[in-house]
Amino acid sequence: MNAQSRIKVFKFGGASVKEASAVENVANILKRFTGEKLVVVISAMGKTTNVLEQIHKARFHKQDYKPVFKEVKDYHRNICTALFENELSGFAQMENLFDNLEEILLTPSGPDYDREYDRIVSYGELISTAIVNAYLVKVNLSSAWMDARRLIRTDNRFRDARVNWSGSEIGRDHILDTLEKKDIVITQGFIGHDSLGNTTTLGREGSDFTAAILAYLLNAESVTIWKDVPGMLNADPKWFKDTVKLDKISFREAIELAYFGASVIHPKTIKPLQNKGIPLYIKSFIDPDASGSVIQESVEYDNLVPSYIFKRDQVLVSISTRDFSFVVEDDLRDIFQLLSELGVRVNLMENSAISFSICIDKDEYKQEKLFELLRAKYQVRYNENLTLMTIRHYDDKTVNMLTKDRELMMEQRSRQTIRMVVR
Ligand code: ASP
Ligand code: MG
Repeated sequence: MNAQSRIKVFKFGGASVKEASAVENVANILKRFTGEKLVVVISAMGKTTNVLEQIHKARFHKQDYKPVFKEVKDYHRNICTALFENELSGFAQMENLFDNLEEILLTPSGPDYDREYDRIVSYGELISTAIVNAYLVKVNLSSAWMDARRLIRTDNRFRDARVNWSGSEIGRDHILDTLEKKDIVITQGFIGHDSLGNTTTLGREGSDFTAAILAYLLNAESVTIWKDVPGMLNADPKWFKDTVKLDKISFREAIELAYFGASVIHPKTIKPLQNKGIPLYIKSFIDPDASGSVIQESVEYDNLVPSYIFKRDQVLVSISTRDFSFVVEDDLRDIFQLLSELGVRVNLMENSAISFSICIDKDEYKQEKLFELLRAKYQVRYNENLTLMTIRHYDDKTVNMLTKDRELMMEQRSRQTIRMVVR
């Protein structure tokens, strides 16, 4: 199967299904595509994933999770009551899933924290999709619910599972079979299964990636991520007043932006789409008529607007030898070996004659480990609470504006990009 299929893949995140009116809005958007074949990937409702994380943690440490569990249950039941009133069929699958989840919670936790996490946290997506699908059926859309734990095969790196692409082809065929009979397949983002049938997850915010995986496997015509912003913006509207929408950008530019920390799309999302030339639309679920953004092959539009990406909570670590000897290749090799073993991601680095500096995300646990191991051989100094600012397609005026009244700790410029660590 290589020719582009006519299937469109949609992704709706937690904010787009956080209350009953939001679910109704999703149904209205889907109605606009009547007669088309859609695969719809949906996240857990609102902040459910965070709450399930708490429940998992409490259970694992043998603490009381029951009040929080009741809260999540009530939250979903209230949404169902608003959607279905007292039509019991609307509640049935949700109640079933809550029963299954409760059964898991009542059994003693296994020893593997991450494995238990995936068993529990995956229910956010299962429950959310069950409710949305029941509502679509109620409003007479031709929709079927599919369990992504049977569609997406992964390895068993729990909480951070890697996709087994060929192992997922059976799942793709199930979807194709289902789409012979129905117009819409509703499934979960973020979750999969390993070869033994254990539930796995792809890492936080992984639902975008699920949409890309399915689009790749199905040779979809396009992917659309429906969001509460009008498209891909040149800065985070939380921090910037005057954001500009990027109408069209290339896959390459999108990967760069996601890598530097732009939070619009999950960084892993682009690669499978780029490999098959499947365009990615980002559109507003609040204003579905608006044009949104498209990420595709062409680089024609990339240089028009500067983009600003801020990563907060950065730590600048400077590593030097005690005797002023050079930090040479052997030292760098050892340092990188450590970084890789601890899974510390380096956002920016610089070396001088006697020291090597890296900018990393704050993570107390990893940091402490890293410093301890480095101090066996090096002198380690660090600064916390810094911001890493990246500007793509920068000009001097904006650089000056952004660095005014701030202490510049490190700076790197290339033709397209300037990156600055500031206090
Ligand atoms: N529900 C998961 C999360 O909040 C996955 C996602 O929404 O992309 O991380
Ligand atoms: Mg989410």
